[in-house]
Amino acid sequence: SSVSTLGVHESVGEVFPAAVFCDALSAVDPSVQIVGGEGSAGSRGDGENDELAACDALVTFAYEDRFLDADLTWIHSIQAGVDRFPFDALADRNIALTNSTGIHGDVVGETAVGMMLSFARRLHTHRSNQERGEWRKPAWNDAFPLRRESACVVGLGTLGTGIATRASALGMDVTGVKRTPTPVDGVDEVYPPADLREAIGDARFVALAVPLTDDTEGMVSAPELDAMREDAYLINVARGPVVDQGALVDALDSGAVAGAGLDVFETEPLPAESSLWDREEVILTPHAAGFNVEYYERVATIVRENLRRLAAGESLTNRVV
Ligand code: NAD
Repeated sequence: SSVSTLGVHESVGEVFPAAVFCDALSAVDPSVQIVGGEGSAGSRGDGENDELAACDALVTFAYEDRFLDADLTWIHSIQAGVDRFPFDALADRNIALTNSTGIHGDVVGETAVGMMLSFARRLHTHRSNQERGEWRKPAWNDAFPLRRESACVVGLGTLGTGIATRASALGMDVTGVKRTPTPVDGVDEVYPPADLREAIGDARFVALAVPLTDDTEGMVSAPELDAMREDAYLINVARGPVVDQGALVDALDSGAVAGAGLDVFETEPLPAESSLWDREEVILTPHAAGFNVEYYERVATIVRENLRRLAAGESLTNRVV
């Protein structure tokens, strides 16, 4: 049934200003109002002050348990990954959950392949030297061309194909891992998850693009890192717990792998005491691979489409629960 009041949770401000997002929805039928986060003035549940109670649908970045007890019929996550949401509890209460997959393939693909370019062309080292005012050329055998290097992309959805097509465009040999190992454009060979170690064993770059699920948690642990080439780089733009971070630190220490490009971590923000901060062959980004000036408009497009579908009695797109 159609939505009368759509809430925009202030946590969307982690990614774009809530007011800018509301402007992008100015032409929709429901009234759109910003909902304060837990502990804010509007979240006390005291009658007219309870912003959430006025909404029958909510667009949000954060998850809060009080969402379950509001009168929501639909929650939209502005992230593609919805691992923070309790699927069973939402289903029990008939609250639909939709995510924002489908919109990050280009930007996250650019970030992941940008990390590959940086490792190959030593841009990260040059930038570090620049900060110290040092003019220093790389060793003769440090830098390498990306062309004909190999990348294995684990998970071939929106992000994975975004990475694969860009790696392929740079002349790399691309393989991938997919639950149903059917052919994918730009990917030379597709392996099933059971053959993960074989799939990643020959790759100079292993890029992770799977959602965090029971199946993918710890998917890359010590045995997988051992299976990788010693000159290989691990790129994780998926979710931190897909990698056993302690095992990765050990692999970096022992030289089992050459380096890592990491946008996501077991704990975010990455704690100051993490030894990952201080490594030459680690490029860290603060879970920002999807950040771009169009983010709000891309999410608004999904939300507008689902408002239309609800009004027309059609099923939701990007539905997870
Ligand atoms: P998607 O649903 O389009 O793609 C995920 C793919 O992974 C699907 O094709 C699915 O079949 C596959 N998959 C699931 N389990 C698998 C397994 N065990 N082995 C191999 N493949 C498996 O989602 P997406 O938009 O590509 O996003 C993927 C994930 O990346 C999200 O769930 C999110 O956690 C993360 N993400 C991170 C950022 C960022 O800013 N770093 C941005 C967007 C998404």
